[in-house]
Amino acid sequence: LRRVVRHCIEHEPLLLATLAGVAVGVIMGTALSFANLGPTALEVIGLPGDLLMRTLKMLVLPLITASVMAGVCALRQSTADMGKVARYTLLYYFATTMGAVVLGIAIVNIVRPGRGSPFDQLDSGEGSCHAANQQKVASHAASSSQHSPVEAFLGVIKSAFPDNVFAAAVNMNVLGIITVSLLMGAALSSMGPEAVPMITIINIFNDAIGKIVNWVIWTSPIGIASLITTSICKACNLVATLEALGLFILAVLLGLLLWGFIVLPAIYYATTRRNPGQVYRGFSQAMATAFGTDSSNATLPITMRCATEGLGCDHRIVQFFLPLGTTVNMNGTALYEAVTVIFIAQAHGVVLGAAGTVIVALTATLAAVGAAGIPSAGLVTMLMVLQAVDLQQYAGDIAIILAVDWFLDRCRTVVNVLGDSFGTVIIDHHARSWVAPESDAAVAGAKGH
Ligand code: ASP
Repeated sequence: LRRVVRHCIEHEPLLLATLAGVAVGVIMGTALSFANLGPTALEVIGLPGDLLMRTLKMLVLPLITASVMAGVCALRQSTADMGKVARYTLLYYFATTMGAVVLGIAIVNIVRPGRGSPFDQLDSGEGSCHAANQQKVASHAASSSQHSPVEAFLGVIKSAFPDNVFAAAVNMNVLGIITVSLLMGAALSSMGPEAVPMITIINIFNDAIGKIVNWVIWTSPIGIASLITTSICKACNLVATLEALGLFILAVLLGLLLWGFIVLPAIYYATTRRNPGQVYRGFSQAMATAFGTDSSNATLPITMRCATEGLGCDHRIVQFFLPLGTTVNMNGTALYEAVTVIFIAQAHGVVLGAAGTVIVALTATLAAVGAAGIPSAGLVTMLMVLQAVDLQQYAGDIAIILAVDWFLDRCRTVVNVLGDSFGTVIIDHHARSWVAPESDAAVAGAKGH
């Protein structure tokens, strides 16, 4: 153990600091949750975490814009087969999201966490904490009840084509921003030499963002400790909730573990014949940050850095694949949506049948695509899945699930990031035969990520 620790201190000091941040957060959070801290104290303890989230989120918009534009320009200039990269990327997103949903459905039907009406145990005597959650969910349910799954699907497509670039940026419509950047990159690279100065500026801007990301990463362990401490302190009635929802938590964790640590590496090995261990090592910083921040969007700058620097992926593929993957490819969220909705059905004795299960599978996939990479987004889009199988009257149950969501959300965010990470490395591996190698100048130009 001593040798491992010494090796980590010498070679992976940042990773060690991040893991220490997670451990400190868990210990402090558990200890302080007995102290019943007031809101002001929690705000003070949460400040470093808040600042980390704010800085990462601040970086996401310029990062996506610059890196997608730079990635498209570099790919097109290298006579790459862009169509092939795009086709395989979409195939990977769809196949893995669907696969995760199917695994979730299988597990929830085997474990049957809904037996014994777990919600009834919690309905009585749950202080103000659940009441506050209930209100939050009720307001979401009210605003989303006008949307059928088809409307929601159309909404996702429409948001990919914003009618106002500035509104898309202000509202963090990530899909819309990606489309605009893709178009801009394609246009610039189809122009002649007159576009070169603009492309150079975009590359320099991209480098500058990469530098800021590097600075932020070195402060992230403190922020992560603070984020985890406050979320444990804010969690309500931990013991009672754990007792009632234990089987549900177990089913979700089992599904996420199987998907993230058995199926994904198996897909990786089958398609590349390489050792998946390298991928976990290369992306360990991104996984720890995903657990700490609860948001795959906020983790994106770090995931990109891990892909290029940790695993030596082609910058152009990373710049193309990861921003899009972070937004639409959410394996963990898809699995979670399916498990939770079927769990709610089981808990109320509703039998969904084959047709209902297929509807859950399809809408859970859609809900995962539609969910933004931000904390608890998956719980909100879940209302749509509930509605698709006519269970909207049980939307209130989500308030109880919110009590454990601070933890489950972190775990599914790690799997979301893992799905993107494996995908990037797989596409990168195969793209070497479709894409001309990166020139040294291009690598130097994109060094920031
Ligand atoms: N927190 C998740 C993410 O950022 C989304 C979700 O709520 O499932 O990837």
